[in-house]
Amino acid sequence: MRDQDLQQKFLVDSCDARGQLVQLDAAWGEATARTDYPATVRQILGEAFVAATLLAGTIKFDGKMTMQVRGEGPIHLLVVQVTNEGNVRGLARWSKVPETHDLPTAFGVDARMIITIEADRNAEPYQGIVPLEGDNLAGALQTYFRTSEQLPTELYLAVSEETAAGVLIQKLPVEERTYHDVDGWARAKALCETLSDKELCEESAQTLLHRLFHEERVRLFDAQPVRFHCSCSRERTDGMLVGLGKSEVDDIIEEQGNVEITCEFCDAEYNYDPVDVAALFKGVASQVSPSDDDDAGHSGTLH
Ligand SMILES: [Zn+2]
Repeated sequence: MRDQDLQQKFLVDSCDARGQLVQLDAAWGEATARTDYPATVRQILGEAFVAATLLAGTIKFDGKMTMQVRGEGPIHLLVVQVTNEGNVRGLARWSKVPETHDLPTAFGVDARMIITIEADRNAEPYQGIVPLEGDNLAGALQTYFRTSEQLPTELYLAVSEETAAGVLIQKLPVEERTYHDVDGWARAKALCETLSDKELCEESAQTLLHRLFHEERVRLFDAQPVRFHCSCSRERTDGMLVGLGKSEVDDIIEEQGNVEITCEFCDAEYNYDPVDVAALFKGVASQVSPSDDDDAGHSGTLH
């Protein structure tokens, strides 16, 4: 296992291409530690962890990016969130085990991928909808890049027991190209296609990039750490309950004696007894109006 999970950005000047390599060992271990994912679901979730991290790495944003797939197939929900600080979390929910991990089998034919970017403050959230074309997430995202950024982009994703990893390469925008080698892009693609899943999962970023591009002019940027981190907290859970409203929460207390909320991403438990609930709403009535409360807007999803 490597020292840390990372996102390594690089430029292949001689091919007028830029790229990123993502390798998740510890984060992938944590993401799958609490749920016994069937192999097919696990494969897609691992690809989604890496694909979301790679996608986030191509976008300048200050906040969080959420990649969500919803469908009517055996897997009805897949969600991965990445923050600009390299915190990643995610989960998948399935009603039956898909026989294979190709997208139409796993999610049904009408599934959609929704990409949302929520900035920390002020900016309007961005939302893009990506048809799930192709058999795998790499293919679907290639389509997304072709239509949204108009830049040829290739992704290679691999998942093993211990690691989820991937490489993204993208042709530079016209104004950033310097070599203008007409074969450059084809060569960069061909080199990346030689990568095996095993190499992607097991070799270090340095070794992989050297192996791929040692005959090209390549520059590495500082590697950025990536880690599994869940943003749930007692405060956010308070906000969610406030968003639900006092009468609804009182009903739960009446029925169950207390309120227990478990975070679906990290299994953290938040318990409220009747005294906690009374204190929560006592404070709310005098201090907070719903329109001032950012977290109330996310009620029900534990963001
Ligand atoms: Zn959590």
